[in-house]
Amino acid sequence: MNWLRSLVVIAGLAAIAAAVAVTAQSEPEIIIRGGEVFTDGALRTADVRVVGATIAEIGAGLEARDGDTEEIDANGLLVLPGGIDPHVHLGGIRMDDYTSGSRAALAGGITTISNFGGVAEGETPAETLARATPEIEAQSIADVIFHPIVSDPASATAESLAALADAGQTTIKVFMVRPTFDSRAPGFVNTMHAARETGVLMMMHCEDAAIVQITSERMVAEGRGSLAYFADARPVAAEEAATLRAVAMAEATGTPIYIVHLSSERALRVAEAAQQRGLPVYVETRPIYLHLTRERFDGPTPGLYIGQPPLREQSDLDALWDGIARGTVHVVATDHVAYTREQKLDPAQNVAQHRAGMSNLQVMLPMLYSDGVNDGRISLERFVEVTSSNPARLFGLYPRKGTIAVGSDADLVLWDPNETRTIRNEDMFSGSGYSIHAGREVTGWPQLTIRRGEIVYRDGEVLGTAGSGELVRREPWQGPPL
Ligand SMILES: [Zn+2]
Repeated sequence: MNWLRSLVVIAGLAAIAAAVAVTAQSEPEIIIRGGEVFTDGALRTADVRVVGATIAEIGAGLEARDGDTEEIDANGLLVLPGGIDPHVHLGGIRMDDYTSGSRAALAGGITTISNFGGVAEGETPAETLARATPEIEAQSIADVIFHPIVSDPASATAESLAALADAGQTTIKVFMVRPTFDSRAPGFVNTMHAARETGVLMMMHCEDAAIVQITSERMVAEGRGSLAYFADARPVAAEEAATLRAVAMAEATGTPIYIVHLSSERALRVAEAAQQRGLPVYVETRPIYLHLTRERFDGPTPGLYIGQPPLREQSDLDALWDGIARGTVHVVATDHVAYTREQKLDPAQNVAQHRAGMSNLQVMLPMLYSDGVNDGRISLERFVEVTSSNPARLFGLYPRKGTIAVGSDADLVLWDPNETRTIRNEDMFSGSGYSIHAGREVTGWPQLTIRRGEIVYRDGEVLGTAGSGELVRREPWQGPPL
């Protein structure tokens, strides 16, 4: 019966090809001409044909289909896959919703963002996703992935995680730093088994809850509670211990883990030792740990720089850049949390109670490019890996996203490697209204951003409309090639 099955398959493929040809005629076409296109792991001079939402052809001297084709001159520009930021917080009490967060992202060359939502008591992760979906569909311009935050491991069983994956999202996040983590640790070990069985990737915030809680409370009681002492209130030891424990739990259960916003050399060495043992331990770091050190807390505005974990030493910063260069740090993501400058400088805050996180979506890629690629710390290949192709794989989007290839989504950034601009508060699209990096001169900026075939950012203006972004259906995670 094999010949019959082959015949059916061939007939089916012919029908699909015919359907593609028919829709192709009615869909808009863009040709990006003469850019240095990052495809197949390297740059080459080529044209890119976009038809509808997807990349249709990559080659030299492509001919326009008809008079309606939009031609974009990319001479002197890099053509890169759109950035994928899997660590973004939007909505709630924060100053960015999906619309303003999208604007900041698209102006910064990021075409896929994320959000997190807490699994409420008595709810399943899939129900949390369903509750979040209407806002995403109404507000977003960028494409979106969603991570339920699991506080009660009883809500994350093999059954409920399978339902989440069926609903198209394949990650959950767990905060080891929350005071409730330790008493529920046995439950979380069960959740790790469930994650392994269902292909769901666990994102873990690794700081030891007891050390952080008691250290910061005692410092407040002793009169050392001001934010100037923030780095001491959350010591590297707390991050190292939690990272080691997360790795041990992953090893014992055979479950891959994704460590969010790793900040210190000692925690990185724990993750690298696990990787050397062949464990699927993936590491994310965050721009503040690559561009800033704890001296910022000694200045007049320590509140602006508060994020968890805190800023560290120059040696930590150097180790993280080196980890990106060597491939032991897999993703750079913002942990974008938009507060106003006034909120961040609220004098009522201390090392135990404060607003953590800052706005970063618009300048993450330019600063990584400028300090990383231009300054020779990392290659362009690594830049694309940690901002696009690795997150695409780890978050179940590859090869639909994270690569410039025929058939992939046309999420593209036209990047001017030579443009030098000074970061200014008044140019920020985030509702936070400022950047902690204002005043910095940065070389390498996006000129134009395309999300699924639509030009959504051009010459300083965001063109996409709220509601055009999609909640993207995801596959189970895949490891980056090691
Ligand atoms: Zn976060």
